[in-house]
Amino acid sequence: MTSLSTSAILLRRIEFGDYDLIVTLFTRTQGKVSAIAKSAKKSVKRFAGVLEPFSRLDVVLAKGRGKRMPVLQEASLEDPFFKIREDIIKTAYASYWAELIYLWMAEGETQESLYELTLHVLAELNRGVTPVEVLSILFQMRFLSLTGFRPNFDHCHACKTCLDQIQDASVVSDPSTGGIVCPSCGVPTNGRLKISKGTLKQLIWTDTGDMQRAARVRFTPTAIAEGLEFLETFVPFHIGKHPKSLKVLRAVRHAINKKSPVVSSPRRRGTS
Ligand SMILES: [Zn+2]
Repeated sequence: MTSLSTSAILLRRIEFGDYDLIVTLFTRTQGKVSAIAKSAKKSVKRFAGVLEPFSRLDVVLAKGRGKRMPVLQEASLEDPFFKIREDIIKTAYASYWAELIYLWMAEGETQESLYELTLHVLAELNRGVTPVEVLSILFQMRFLSLTGFRPNFDHCHACKTCLDQIQDASVVSDPSTGGIVCPSCGVPTNGRLKISKGTLKQLIWTDTGDMQRAARVRFTPTAIAEGLEFLETFVPFHIGKHPKSLKVLRAVRHAINKKSPVVSSPRRRGTS
């Protein structure tokens, strides 16, 4: 049996039998790894309080022989990001991001840039300065780029008119072609959404340059609403799966917005 030591983010945990947990980790060096944490349920000393969702850990994994699942030998907390789990909307967003990674990644495939992105958005979510909606837009835009699904906003997919040359203020997103169509070429239908050109520009900015600066893009409430609706349609379409956590996120967001229409946004000032 060989062991390996790496940094990791805990994506999910499920109970296994009476004593154990199966944890899925996003490791820096090995990508997604599912491992068995023996006696994690039963023993209070073993892994006590460490194996919580979204925590950043240092782990030691013993590789299983043949096709056997690796064993989590040691885990120590690097950062618990506990403010995420204390807040229902932050938990809902983090769960959605974690599920996207879980659904898209294959076991053992290294994705260091995606790891860095995930760590960045979780740390910022925990810090609580950047609005959660902006972090979700940033995460999903960059997730699309890193996974090879970057949407093409340059021109209408059908008639090839450049975005700047399209006279209308809004275009129609078209997940099936990975881009947009102008109003003369397409109308909003199932899966196709109307999206303003101003929103598209702001989405492009979040995918450009360094992440700190990109997170400071000031979104208008319309751009946030349109951007989230677009990405939460586009991303699941491209990974070909329906994340269960997205339903929960939408329900939580809806309930919170109903209570107070101005959502968590300490720095929201419109620019477009
Ligand atoms: Zn067109």
